Amino acid sequence: MAAFRTLDDLGDVQGKVALVRVDLNLPVKDGRATDLTRAQAVAPTILELADAGAKVLLLAHFGRPKGERHSQMSLSIIQGDLERVLGREVMFIPEVSGPVTQQAIGILRPGDIGILENTRFWPGEEKNDPEFARAIAAHGDFYVNDAFSASHRAHASTEGLAHLLPAYAGRAMEKELKALDAALGTPVQPVAAVVGGAKVSTKLGVLEHLVGKVQHLIIGGGMANTFLAARGVDVGKSLCEHELTGAVEQILDAAERAGCTVHLPYDVVVAKEFAANPPSLRTCNVHEVAADEMILDIGPRATEALADVLKTCRTLVWNGPLGAFETPPFDEATVALAKTAAALTKEGSLTSVAGGGDTVAALNHAGVAGDFTYVSTAGGAFLEWMEGKELPGVAALQK
Ligand code: ADP
Ligand code: MG
Repeated sequence: MAAFRTLDDLGDVQGKVALVRVDLNLPVKDGRATDLTRAQAVAPTILELADAGAKVLLLAHFGRPKGERHSQMSLSIIQGDLERVLGREVMFIPEVSGPVTQQAIGILRPGDIGILENTRFWPGEEKNDPEFARAIAAHGDFYVNDAFSASHRAHASTEGLAHLLPAYAGRAMEKELKALDAALGTPVQPVAAVVGGAKVSTKLGVLEHLVGKVQHLIIGGGMANTFLAARGVDVGKSLCEHELTGAVEQILDAAERAGCTVHLPYDVVVAKEFAANPPSLRTCNVHEVAADEMILDIGPRATEALADVLKTCRTLVWNGPLGAFETPPFDEATVALAKTAAALTKEGSLTSVAGGGDTVAALNHAGVAGDFTYVSTAGGAFLEWMEGKELPGVAALQK
Protein backbone atom coordinates (compact mmCIF):
# COMPACT_ATOMS: atom_id res chain seq x y z
CA MET A 1 0.00 0.00 0.00
CA ALA A 2 1.18 3.52 -0.70
CA ALA A 3 2.23 5.16 2.53
CA PHE A 4 -0.11 7.78 3.95
CA ARG A 5 0.45 10.40 6.56
CA THR A 6 -1.82 9.67 9.51
CA LEU A 7 -2.56 11.36 12.83
CA ASP A 8 0.48 9.46 14.16
CA ASP A 9 2.67 11.75 12.03
CA LEU A 10 1.28 14.90 13.63
CA GLY A 11 3.54 16.66 16.07
CA ASP A 12 2.24 18.90 18.83
CA VAL A 13 -1.15 20.31 17.79
CA GLN A 14 -1.87 22.29 20.95
CA GLY A 15 -3.68 25.50 19.94
CA LYS A 16 -3.39 24.73 16.22
CA VAL A 17 -6.35 24.91 13.87
CA ALA A 18 -7.24 21.58 12.23
CA LEU A 19 -9.41 21.62 9.10
CA VAL A 20 -11.03 18.18 9.10
CA ARG A 21 -13.05 16.89 6.11
CA VAL A 22 -15.71 14.48 7.35
CA ASP A 23 -18.76 12.74 5.90
CA LEU A 24 -21.78 14.12 7.76
CA ASN A 25 -24.21 13.64 4.91
CA LEU A 26 -26.68 12.05 7.33
CA PRO A 27 -30.14 10.95 6.22
CA VAL A 28 -32.58 13.44 7.80
CA LYS A 29 -36.33 13.32 8.37
CA ASP A 30 -38.33 16.14 9.98
CA GLY A 31 -35.16 18.00 10.92
CA ARG A 32 -33.50 15.06 12.71
CA ALA A 33 -30.95 12.52 11.54
CA THR A 34 -32.43 9.05 11.12
CA ASP A 35 -29.07 7.26 11.07
CA LEU A 36 -25.95 8.40 12.91
CA THR A 37 -23.51 5.83 11.45
CA ARG A 38 -21.49 8.41 9.52
CA ALA A 39 -21.16 10.74 12.51
CA GLN A 40 -20.10 7.82 14.70
CA ALA A 41 -17.49 6.81 12.15
CA VAL A 42 -15.67 10.16 12.31
CA ALA A 43 -16.03 10.74 16.05
CA PRO A 44 -12.69 9.08 16.99
CA THR A 45 -10.71 11.44 14.73
CA ILE A 46 -12.53 14.55 15.98
CA LEU A 47 -12.15 13.61 19.63
CA GLU A 48 -8.50 12.61 19.26
CA LEU A 49 -7.63 15.99 17.73
CA ALA A 50 -9.70 17.92 20.27
CA ASP A 51 -8.17 16.00 23.17
CA ALA A 52 -4.71 16.80 21.81
CA GLY A 53 -5.60 20.50 22.13
CA ALA A 54 -6.34 21.43 18.52
CA LYS A 55 -9.17 23.74 17.54
CA VAL A 56 -11.12 21.36 15.33
CA LEU A 57 -12.99 22.86 12.37
CA LEU A 58 -15.17 20.37 10.48
CA LEU A 59 -15.76 20.62 6.74
CA ALA A 60 -18.54 18.60 5.12
CA HIS A 61 -21.12 18.60 2.37
CA PHE A 62 -24.81 18.00 2.97
CA GLY A 63 -27.18 17.16 0.13
CA ARG A 64 -26.85 18.67 -3.34
CA PRO A 65 -27.33 22.46 -3.08
CA LYS A 66 -25.38 22.98 -6.33
CA GLY A 67 -23.43 26.07 -5.34
CA GLU A 68 -26.24 27.99 -3.60
CA ARG A 69 -27.41 28.49 -0.03
CA HIS A 70 -30.49 26.42 0.85
CA SER A 71 -31.59 26.62 4.49
CA GLN A 72 -32.91 23.03 4.41
CA MET A 73 -29.39 21.84 3.52
CA SER A 74 -27.59 23.85 6.21
CA LEU A 75 -25.28 21.80 8.39
CA SER A 76 -26.82 23.63 11.37
CA ILE A 77 -29.55 20.97 11.06
CA ILE A 78 -27.25 18.21 12.28
CA GLN A 79 -25.35 20.26 14.87
CA GLY A 80 -27.43 18.78 17.73
CA ASP A 81 -27.09 15.20 16.48
CA LEU A 82 -23.34 15.67 16.18
CA GLU A 83 -23.13 17.05 19.73
CA ARG A 84 -24.98 13.99 21.03
CA VAL A 85 -22.64 11.60 19.17
CA LEU A 86 -19.49 13.42 20.34
CA GLY A 87 -20.71 14.21 23.84
CA ARG A 88 -19.26 17.71 23.33
CA GLU A 89 -20.50 21.12 22.36
CA VAL A 90 -20.07 22.00 18.66
CA MET A 91 -20.13 25.61 17.46
CA PHE A 92 -21.94 26.14 14.15
CA ILE A 93 -20.13 28.61 11.88
CA PRO A 94 -22.30 29.86 8.97
CA GLU A 95 -19.40 30.43 6.53
CA VAL A 96 -16.37 28.39 5.38
CA SER A 97 -13.96 31.31 5.14
CA GLY A 98 -13.63 35.05 5.69
CA PRO A 99 -14.09 37.31 8.73
CA VAL A 100 -17.00 35.34 10.28
CA THR A 101 -14.89 32.18 10.27
CA GLN A 102 -11.83 34.02 11.60
CA GLN A 103 -13.86 35.54 14.42
CA ALA A 104 -15.27 32.10 15.35
CA ILE A 105 -11.76 30.65 15.48
CA GLY A 106 -10.84 33.47 17.87
CA ILE A 107 -13.69 32.48 20.18
CA LEU A 108 -12.88 28.74 20.12
CA ARG A 109 -10.41 27.56 22.76
CA PRO A 110 -7.91 24.75 22.20
CA GLY A 111 -9.87 21.48 22.31
CA ASP A 112 -13.10 23.08 21.06
CA ILE A 113 -14.98 21.89 17.98
CA GLY A 114 -16.70 23.95 15.28
CA ILE A 115 -18.57 22.92 12.16
CA LEU A 116 -18.38 25.12 9.09
CA GLU A 117 -21.37 25.53 6.76
CA ASN A 118 -22.08 23.08 3.91
CA THR A 119 -19.11 23.35 1.52
CA ARG A 120 -21.38 22.81 -1.49
CA PHE A 121 -23.15 26.14 -0.87
CA TRP A 122 -20.18 27.61 -2.77
CA PRO A 123 -19.63 26.76 -6.46
CA GLY A 124 -15.86 26.66 -5.87
CA GLU A 125 -16.21 23.43 -3.89
CA GLU A 126 -17.26 21.08 -6.69
CA LYS A 127 -15.16 23.00 -9.25
CA ASN A 128 -12.14 22.51 -7.00
CA ASP A 129 -11.46 26.23 -7.47
CA PRO A 130 -7.95 26.99 -6.16
CA GLU A 131 -9.01 30.42 -4.89
CA PHE A 132 -11.89 28.93 -2.89
CA ALA A 133 -9.54 26.30 -1.46
CA ARG A 134 -6.92 28.95 -0.58
CA ALA A 135 -9.54 31.04 1.26
CA ILE A 136 -10.41 28.04 3.45
CA ALA A 137 -6.79 26.92 3.88
CA ALA A 138 -5.90 30.40 5.21
CA HIS A 139 -7.73 29.56 8.45
CA GLY A 140 -6.00 26.24 9.16
CA ASP A 141 -2.60 24.97 10.27
CA PHE A 142 -3.13 21.46 8.89
CA TYR A 143 -5.71 19.36 7.04
CA VAL A 144 -7.17 15.95 7.86
CA ASN A 145 -9.31 13.91 5.46
CA ASP A 146 -11.57 11.40 7.20
CA ALA A 147 -14.13 11.14 4.40
CA PHE A 148 -13.16 8.18 2.18
CA SER A 149 -16.73 8.15 0.81
CA ALA A 150 -16.26 11.64 -0.69
CA SER A 151 -12.67 11.14 -1.86
CA HIS A 152 -13.47 9.83 -5.34
CA ARG A 153 -14.33 13.44 -6.17
CA ALA A 154 -11.61 16.03 -6.64
CA HIS A 155 -13.36 18.83 -4.79
CA ALA A 156 -11.80 21.73 -2.89
CA SER A 157 -12.49 20.18 0.52
CA THR A 158 -11.45 16.64 -0.48
CA GLU A 159 -8.48 17.28 -2.74
CA GLY A 160 -7.60 20.97 -3.16
CA LEU A 161 -6.91 21.57 0.52
CA ALA A 162 -4.56 18.59 0.72
CA HIS A 163 -2.13 20.42 -1.55
CA LEU A 164 -2.25 23.67 0.41
CA LEU A 165 -1.68 22.43 3.96
CA PRO A 166 0.16 19.53 5.58
CA ALA A 167 -2.37 16.72 4.95
CA TYR A 168 -3.17 13.60 7.00
CA ALA A 169 -5.57 10.66 6.82
CA GLY A 170 -8.00 10.55 9.75
CA ARG A 171 -8.64 7.36 11.72
CA ALA A 172 -11.73 6.29 9.72
CA MET A 173 -9.89 6.91 6.44
CA GLU A 174 -6.88 4.99 7.73
CA LYS A 175 -9.05 2.02 8.73
CA GLU A 176 -10.79 1.98 5.36
CA LEU A 177 -7.51 2.17 3.40
CA LYS A 178 -6.00 -0.67 5.44
CA ALA A 179 -9.06 -2.87 4.96
CA LEU A 180 -9.21 -2.22 1.22
CA ASP A 181 -5.51 -2.88 0.87
CA ALA A 182 -5.90 -6.21 2.68
CA ALA A 183 -8.70 -7.14 0.28
CA LEU A 184 -7.26 -6.19 -3.11
CA GLY A 185 -3.97 -4.32 -2.71
CA THR A 186 -1.72 -6.88 -1.07
CA PRO A 187 -4.17 -9.67 -0.13
CA VAL A 188 -3.34 -13.08 1.24
CA GLN A 189 -3.96 -15.57 -1.62
CA PRO A 190 -6.15 -17.16 -2.83
CA VAL A 191 -8.67 -14.36 -3.25
CA ALA A 192 -12.35 -14.71 -4.13
CA ALA A 193 -14.57 -11.90 -5.35
CA VAL A 194 -18.35 -12.05 -5.24
CA VAL A 195 -19.94 -9.68 -7.73
CA GLY A 196 -23.71 -9.60 -7.83
CA GLY A 197 -26.46 -7.05 -8.13
CA ALA A 198 -28.78 -6.10 -10.88
CA LYS A 199 -26.74 -5.26 -13.95
CA VAL A 200 -23.43 -5.96 -15.66
CA SER A 201 -23.53 -2.46 -17.17
CA THR A 202 -22.98 -0.74 -13.79
CA LYS A 203 -20.06 -3.04 -12.94
CA LEU A 204 -18.15 -3.63 -16.18
CA GLY A 205 -15.13 -1.73 -14.84
CA VAL A 206 -15.20 -3.74 -11.63
CA LEU A 207 -15.33 -7.07 -13.47
CA GLU A 208 -12.53 -6.10 -15.87
CA HIS A 209 -10.30 -5.10 -12.96
CA LEU A 210 -11.07 -8.12 -10.79
CA VAL A 211 -10.27 -10.83 -13.35
CA GLY A 212 -6.63 -9.79 -13.18
CA LYS A 213 -6.63 -9.64 -9.38
CA VAL A 214 -8.48 -12.65 -7.99
CA GLN A 215 -8.36 -16.44 -8.40
CA HIS A 216 -12.12 -16.93 -8.10
CA LEU A 217 -14.74 -14.62 -9.54
CA ILE A 218 -18.20 -15.54 -8.30
CA ILE A 219 -21.01 -14.05 -10.37
CA GLY A 220 -24.54 -13.81 -8.98
CA GLY A 221 -27.60 -11.60 -9.15
CA GLY A 222 -29.21 -10.33 -12.31
CA MET A 223 -25.80 -9.96 -13.91
CA ALA A 224 -25.27 -13.73 -13.79
CA ASN A 225 -28.11 -13.98 -16.31
CA THR A 226 -26.14 -11.95 -18.84
CA PHE A 227 -23.15 -14.24 -18.29
CA LEU A 228 -25.35 -17.32 -18.74
CA ALA A 229 -26.84 -15.83 -21.91
CA ALA A 230 -23.33 -15.21 -23.24
CA ARG A 231 -22.67 -18.92 -22.71
CA GLY A 232 -25.75 -19.79 -24.76
CA VAL A 233 -28.19 -20.42 -21.91
CA ASP A 234 -31.83 -19.40 -22.49
CA VAL A 235 -32.68 -17.29 -19.44
CA GLY A 236 -36.38 -16.82 -20.32
CA LYS A 237 -37.91 -13.61 -18.93
CA SER A 238 -34.99 -12.91 -16.57
CA LEU A 239 -33.40 -9.49 -16.20
CA CYS A 240 -30.63 -9.77 -18.81
CA GLU A 241 -28.60 -7.29 -20.83
CA HIS A 242 -28.39 -9.17 -24.12
CA GLU A 243 -26.52 -6.26 -25.73
CA LEU A 244 -23.65 -6.89 -23.31
CA THR A 245 -22.98 -10.53 -24.13
CA GLY A 246 -20.00 -9.42 -26.26
CA ALA A 247 -18.48 -7.52 -23.34
CA VAL A 248 -19.10 -10.51 -21.09
CA GLU A 249 -17.31 -12.83 -23.54
CA GLN A 250 -14.30 -10.52 -23.40
CA ILE A 251 -14.33 -10.66 -19.60
CA LEU A 252 -14.52 -14.46 -19.72
CA ASP A 253 -11.57 -14.56 -22.14
CA ALA A 254 -9.52 -12.20 -19.98
CA ALA A 255 -10.30 -14.34 -16.93
CA GLU A 256 -9.11 -17.46 -18.69
CA ARG A 257 -5.85 -15.79 -19.74
CA ALA A 258 -5.30 -14.57 -16.17
CA GLY A 259 -6.05 -17.95 -14.58
CA CYS A 260 -9.15 -16.63 -12.83
CA THR A 261 -11.97 -19.16 -12.43
CA VAL A 262 -15.38 -17.63 -13.12
CA HIS A 263 -18.16 -19.31 -11.15
CA LEU A 264 -21.62 -19.16 -12.67
CA PRO A 265 -24.60 -20.83 -11.00
CA TYR A 266 -25.74 -24.22 -12.33
CA ASP A 267 -29.01 -24.21 -10.47
CA VAL A 268 -31.33 -21.25 -9.98
CA VAL A 269 -34.54 -20.19 -8.24
CA VAL A 270 -37.17 -19.09 -10.75
CA ALA A 271 -40.74 -17.77 -10.79
CA LYS A 272 -43.26 -16.52 -13.33
CA GLU A 273 -44.04 -13.40 -11.33
CA PHE A 274 -41.82 -11.24 -9.18
CA ALA A 275 -43.56 -11.36 -5.78
CA ALA A 276 -42.92 -12.74 -2.32
CA ASN A 277 -43.29 -16.53 -2.22
CA PRO A 278 -45.12 -16.75 -5.56
CA PRO A 279 -47.07 -19.96 -6.40
CA SER A 280 -44.89 -20.54 -9.50
CA LEU A 281 -41.69 -20.68 -7.42
CA ARG A 282 -39.32 -23.54 -8.25
CA THR A 283 -35.65 -24.47 -8.33
CA CYS A 284 -34.15 -25.87 -11.52
CA ASN A 285 -31.01 -26.39 -13.54
CA VAL A 286 -29.99 -23.28 -15.54
CA HIS A 287 -30.76 -25.18 -18.74
CA GLU A 288 -34.38 -25.77 -17.68
CA VAL A 289 -35.63 -22.19 -17.32
CA ALA A 290 -38.92 -21.85 -19.22
CA ALA A 291 -39.62 -18.97 -21.61
CA ASP A 292 -42.08 -17.38 -19.15
CA GLU A 293 -39.88 -17.76 -16.05
CA MET A 294 -37.31 -15.43 -14.52
CA ILE A 295 -34.23 -16.21 -12.47
CA LEU A 296 -34.43 -14.39 -9.13
CA ASP A 297 -31.75 -16.14 -7.07
CA ILE A 298 -29.01 -18.69 -7.47
CA GLY A 299 -29.93 -22.19 -6.37
CA PRO A 300 -29.03 -24.17 -3.22
CA ARG A 301 -26.55 -26.49 -4.95
CA ALA A 302 -24.66 -23.58 -6.50
CA THR A 303 -24.65 -21.85 -3.10
CA GLU A 304 -23.17 -24.93 -1.46
CA ALA A 305 -20.48 -25.17 -4.13
CA LEU A 306 -19.62 -21.49 -3.58
CA ALA A 307 -19.33 -22.07 0.17
CA ASP A 308 -16.75 -24.77 -0.66
CA VAL A 309 -14.87 -22.27 -2.83
CA LEU A 310 -14.76 -19.75 0.04
CA LYS A 311 -13.38 -22.44 2.33
CA THR A 312 -10.32 -22.72 0.07
CA CYS A 313 -9.76 -18.94 0.03
CA ARG A 314 -8.02 -16.60 2.47
CA THR A 315 -9.48 -13.31 1.24
CA LEU A 316 -12.94 -12.28 0.05
CA VAL A 317 -14.18 -9.06 -1.47
CA TRP A 318 -17.94 -8.81 -1.99
CA ASN A 319 -20.10 -6.37 -3.91
CA GLY A 320 -23.68 -7.03 -4.90
CA PRO A 321 -26.33 -9.49 -3.66
CA LEU A 322 -26.70 -12.93 -5.30
CA GLY A 323 -30.45 -12.57 -5.75
CA ALA A 324 -33.38 -10.19 -5.41
CA PHE A 325 -32.82 -10.33 -1.64
CA GLU A 326 -35.48 -7.73 -0.73
CA THR A 327 -38.21 -10.24 -1.65
CA PRO A 328 -38.37 -13.63 0.09
CA PRO A 329 -37.33 -16.31 -0.60
CA PHE A 330 -34.91 -14.77 -3.13
CA ASP A 331 -32.65 -13.75 -0.22
CA GLU A 332 -31.70 -17.32 0.60
CA ALA A 333 -28.46 -17.69 -1.37
CA THR A 334 -27.16 -14.27 -0.27
CA VAL A 335 -27.96 -14.96 3.37
CA ALA A 336 -26.43 -18.47 3.27
CA LEU A 337 -23.19 -17.40 1.57
CA ALA A 338 -22.89 -14.33 3.81
CA LYS A 339 -23.22 -16.59 6.86
CA THR A 340 -20.51 -18.89 5.51
CA ALA A 341 -18.18 -15.92 4.93
CA ALA A 342 -18.92 -14.58 8.41
CA ALA A 343 -18.23 -17.96 10.03
CA LEU A 344 -14.92 -18.38 8.15
CA THR A 345 -13.94 -14.85 9.18
CA LYS A 346 -14.73 -15.60 12.82
CA GLU A 347 -12.62 -18.78 12.63
CA GLY A 348 -9.76 -16.63 11.37
CA SER A 349 -9.33 -18.35 8.00
CA LEU A 350 -10.80 -15.53 5.88
CA THR A 351 -10.36 -11.77 5.58
CA SER A 352 -13.71 -10.49 4.32
CA VAL A 353 -14.39 -7.02 2.96
CA ALA A 354 -17.73 -5.96 1.52
CA GLY A 355 -19.24 -2.75 0.21
CA GLY A 356 -22.06 -1.26 -1.85
CA GLY A 357 -25.39 0.25 -0.78
CA ASP A 358 -27.51 -2.84 -1.35
CA THR A 359 -24.72 -5.16 -0.23
CA VAL A 360 -24.58 -3.48 3.19
CA ALA A 361 -28.38 -3.78 3.42
CA ALA A 362 -28.18 -7.48 2.44
CA LEU A 363 -25.48 -8.24 5.03
CA ASN A 364 -27.49 -6.44 7.70
CA HIS A 365 -30.53 -8.45 6.62
CA ALA A 366 -28.44 -11.63 7.03
CA GLY A 367 -27.39 -10.37 10.47
CA VAL A 368 -23.67 -10.79 9.76
CA ALA A 369 -22.37 -7.32 8.81
CA GLY A 370 -20.61 -7.12 12.18
CA ASP A 371 -18.81 -10.42 11.58
CA PHE A 372 -17.11 -9.35 8.35
CA THR A 373 -13.57 -8.00 8.67
CA TYR A 374 -14.71 -4.70 7.19
CA VAL A 375 -17.89 -3.36 5.64
CA SER A 376 -17.54 -0.18 3.64
CA THR A 377 -20.51 2.18 3.52
CA ALA A 378 -18.78 4.36 0.95
CA GLY A 379 -20.93 3.52 -2.12
CA GLY A 380 -19.51 5.30 -5.19
CA ALA A 381 -16.00 5.60 -3.77
CA PHE A 382 -15.97 1.87 -2.92
CA LEU A 383 -17.00 0.91 -6.46
CA GLU A 384 -14.36 3.17 -8.02
CA TRP A 385 -11.78 1.57 -5.77
CA MET A 386 -13.02 -1.88 -6.92
CA GLU A 387 -12.43 -0.70 -10.47
CA GLY A 388 -8.80 -0.09 -9.58
CA LYS A 389 -9.11 3.67 -9.95
CA GLU A 390 -6.99 6.07 -7.98
CA LEU A 391 -9.22 8.25 -5.78
CA PRO A 392 -8.00 11.87 -5.96
CA GLY A 393 -8.72 12.66 -2.31
CA VAL A 394 -6.77 9.58 -1.23
CA ALA A 395 -3.88 10.09 -3.65
CA ALA A 396 -3.36 13.59 -2.24
CA LEU A 397 -2.58 12.11 1.19
CA GLN A 398 0.34 9.98 0.02
CA LYS A 399 3.70 10.52 1.61
P1 ADP B 1 -24.90 -2.62 -4.63
O1 ADP B 1 -25.78 -1.43 -4.27
O2 ADP B 1 -24.52 -3.42 -3.42
O3 ADP B 1 -23.71 -2.23 -5.47
P2 ADP B 1 -26.57 -3.30 -6.91
O4 ADP B 1 -27.23 -1.95 -6.79
O5 ADP B 1 -25.68 -3.54 -8.05
O6 ADP B 1 -25.79 -3.62 -5.52
O7 ADP B 1 -27.67 -4.42 -7.02
C1 ADP B 1 -28.64 -4.68 -6.03
C2 ADP B 1 -29.97 -5.05 -6.65
O8 ADP B 1 -29.87 -6.16 -7.52
C3 ADP B 1 -30.99 -5.44 -5.60
O9 ADP B 1 -32.02 -4.49 -5.57
C4 ADP B 1 -31.49 -6.81 -6.05
O10 ADP B 1 -32.89 -6.97 -5.90
C5 ADP B 1 -31.12 -6.83 -7.50
N1 ADP B 1 -31.02 -8.21 -8.01
C6 ADP B 1 -30.20 -9.18 -7.58
N2 ADP B 1 -30.42 -10.33 -8.25
C7 ADP B 1 -31.40 -10.09 -9.13
C8 ADP B 1 -32.08 -10.89 -10.12
N3 ADP B 1 -31.76 -12.17 -10.32
N4 ADP B 1 -33.05 -10.29 -10.85
C9 ADP B 1 -33.35 -9.00 -10.65
N5 ADP B 1 -32.76 -8.19 -9.74
C10 ADP B 1 -31.79 -8.73 -8.99
MG1 MG C 1 -27.30 -0.37 -5.40
